[in-house]
Amino acid sequence: MNSKRQSENFCINEYDAVGFDLDGCLLKYKWNAFFELLHHYLTTYLTKVKHYDPSHIQPFNDGWKEVMFRGFFVDTKRGNLLLVLGDGTIERAFHGKVSLSCDRITSIYPDAKLPVFEQILKNFVSADEYHMIDNYFEGPLVMIFTDLITTIDNKVCKQQAQLSVMKSLDTGITYQKVWDDIFSGYLDFFDPEPTDMASRFIEISVNPAPYGIPCSRHLKNWLKCLKAANKCVFLMTSSTVTFAKGILHYILGEDYNDYFDFGIGRAGKPSFFSCYRKFVDVDDRQAVVTKIEAKKWYEFGCFGIFTGLLGTFTGMTKPKVLYIGDSIKNDAFPASRVAHWGALLILEAMEVEGCESPDPEKNNCHCKIVDDEDALYVGSNPVWGSFFLNNGKDTLFARVVKEASDVAIPWLDYISGKSLFPIKCG
Ligand SMILES: [Mg+2]
Repeated sequence: MNSKRQSENFCINEYDAVGFDLDGCLLKYKWNAFFELLHHYLTTYLTKVKHYDPSHIQPFNDGWKEVMFRGFFVDTKRGNLLLVLGDGTIERAFHGKVSLSCDRITSIYPDAKLPVFEQILKNFVSADEYHMIDNYFEGPLVMIFTDLITTIDNKVCKQQAQLSVMKSLDTGITYQKVWDDIFSGYLDFFDPEPTDMASRFIEISVNPAPYGIPCSRHLKNWLKCLKAANKCVFLMTSSTVTFAKGILHYILGEDYNDYFDFGIGRAGKPSFFSCYRKFVDVDDRQAVVTKIEAKKWYEFGCFGIFTGLLGTFTGMTKPKVLYIGDSIKNDAFPASRVAHWGALLILEAMEVEGCESPDPEKNNCHCKIVDDEDALYVGSNPVWGSFFLNNGKDTLFARVVKEASDVAIPWLDYISGKSLFPIKCG
């Protein structure tokens, strides 16, 4: 994909160290299966813990699946969903499930501009009440949010005081409160130390086959080539080490440790790049980590400390690092803007929207990555249009992809058939 930042020839051989994200990067999710799991969890959480009426949330297969996309904002205060162009203009908007006209958009948002646009361009994280949907994981939150907005609006319109959104809480219901309740269920789903693993995220690492796809033979060979070429290869994920090991065993095999020099879990991206937090050795949690040791696993940490540790590990004063991940917010943007690393972005939408040749041989890719069921969420769809272009103009997300990544590819298999480069971008 073309980029202002990208040089024409991106060459992985120029880097001394290559870091990999796990979820959505080395682990290819089966999104429909994951969405169903999370949707079920959130529905149960909202009804059991927050006392919502289950009849106000549509069953997963009857729900508004097309809304689960990547590359828009949720105005959590007003219950609106906003697709924004690269100049800050709100191009498409929905209140719950209802499309908003241009006049309506302008009446709510002066000049039809995203109010926090400049802030977003600078930091690329959610700002004020504008929650950024940067990855597919949050799709079911939005789907359920639109169900409950419909319920609130019906309640207000019909003036039926007896029809409460919740069984036990019938006052003070706001869109913001509903969003906060859904989001607290989302955080609960990802709880790294749950008392009960059933139906939670951690269960995927124990039973991964329904939700993820193992790495191809070509990709595994390519990863080993990186190490054979004396690159420092590391894994850095916000998931726990326990989760990561379970997944790596499934996608790479029992020799998964041979693919990496070391691993970091609970990195807490993007704050990893800006906070100060010590590393923890997962084998000896009381030990002070003064150096990185080969084949070992760590948790937490931060960029400032990591820079020194990586220098010692590689024996280089300033090793050149490439980081590969699927999130603009958590991976590409902070890696390039804060750490000044190289950033390679995994963007499945490129395959579905035809940014790459449909001929797998021309792409050097050995398989089609996104199946037909997931294409609805990943590529252009009737609700959101294209991830890249709307009305002939770059979306905000497409603009940031170009500005914050050195190269974007649909999946690692698109480069795993090549030698260690250079590859021509665009
Ligand atoms: Mg990821």
